[in-house]
Amino acid sequence: MQFENSREFAIELDKEDKLSKYRDEFIFPKVNGKDVIYFVGNSLGLQPRSAKKYVDEIMKDWAELAVEGHFYAEKSWWDYHERFSEKLAKVVGANPSEVTVMNTLTVNLHLLMVSFYRPSGKRYKIICEEKAFPSDQYMISSQVRFHGYDPQDAIVEIKKREGENNFRTEDVLKKIKEVGEECALVLIGGVNYYTGQVFDMKTITKAGHDAGAFVGWDLAHAAGNIELKLSDWNVDFAAWCSYKYMNSGPGNASGCFINKKYHNKKDIPRFEGWWGHNKDRRFLMEPEFQPEPTADAWQISNAPILAMAPYLASLEMFAEVGMPALIEKRNKIVAYLEFVLHEIDKEVDSSFEIITPSEQDERGTQISVFLHGEGKELFRFLMDQGVITDWREPNVIRLAPAPFYCSFKDMYEFGQILKKGILSKEKV
Ligand SMILES: *Cc1c(COP(=O)(O)O)cnc(C)c1O
Repeated sequence: MQFENSREFAIELDKEDKLSKYRDEFIFPKVNGKDVIYFVGNSLGLQPRSAKKYVDEIMKDWAELAVEGHFYAEKSWWDYHERFSEKLAKVVGANPSEVTVMNTLTVNLHLLMVSFYRPSGKRYKIICEEKAFPSDQYMISSQVRFHGYDPQDAIVEIKKREGENNFRTEDVLKKIKEVGEECALVLIGGVNYYTGQVFDMKTITKAGHDAGAFVGWDLAHAAGNIELKLSDWNVDFAAWCSYKYMNSGPGNASGCFINKKYHNKKDIPRFEGWWGHNKDRRFLMEPEFQPEPTADAWQISNAPILAMAPYLASLEMFAEVGMPALIEKRNKIVAYLEFVLHEIDKEVDSSFEIITPSEQDERGTQISVFLHGEGKELFRFLMDQGVITDWREPNVIRLAPAPFYCSFKDMYEFGQILKKGILSKEKV
């Protein structure tokens, strides 16, 4: 499609957009009385209007039923988390039994490493990407030290090549081969949080398995963003937070995937609690743990219902729209944003360098841009004008136009504001 950098053209694209009505289902913060242009759905998704209703329901049930709400609330609490499995399984390409909702992301990765990082003998190394999200670095390093190893030795980082912005699959595969029988676990962010690069999870998972290692994925930037086929790719485990693309609210519960081949396995180590116990016998308070035959066996405590309510509200919308429609719009709006950036680049002296891969299957909603010659005052200008972006030193902005609620007109207007910011500074 031949794009044009004009308001009329952008409005035309919005008219053709089958998802445009969903914009009204979200609440936008306002700057100068106008809805903001929100580019940080990869950090904290906007609040779905339905979230409050779901929370209010719980508050009402709690007031009217108190403890009886566990069993007699319309959405009973004792099995509240089970309402997620089927819908969430569709988002991540899994069987419903392989998906559960519990805790928060880093906590879940730690818990999953109890099961899937079991160093012994020669096999004790973890392969991850260099400059992983800091929480993942701390998590991996502390796990390695917990098992008595030196992080310098036990953590093997895949590196980018000199002068390149992204990882090459061939380099990941080479590293896995090289570490070979010393490799206990491959654990990588499925979509890189900084550049937005999508890893070839299918190929890398297979390579990890060929080396005899477990393979897990941190899907913080992938869930609700890209197509995932965790079951087909034979991934061992994965976890994601729900407050980024999945719009569940700040710090909200994480989702987990645990491959069905590990369900019902007696010898798999796991930290256990009563919510992982056979649900029909949970309240008999028997001394011996009988795991649920699903990913729910990894649940520990009873679920934080109030927190999970907005997640469920949001998930219902994902179920209604489906990932294919979201991805279709995502591809178009990201391509349009990229086009707008190139157009503005021609009109100003500064130069933009998009560090996100340009291939559609190597990126999701996010594009990260180096604004050469610009600094933090541009970021402040954008914020003042109601453009909410994420700025990383020295001069990278990350732009993630979430397909659920961002419009093509937003992309056009962003371009105009960006141009104004750069030009007005040049005049000073
Ligand atoms: C956002 C993000 C996290 C956040 O972890 P929490 O435990 O939810 O605070 C972790 N890892 C990655 C890759 C992320 O992008």
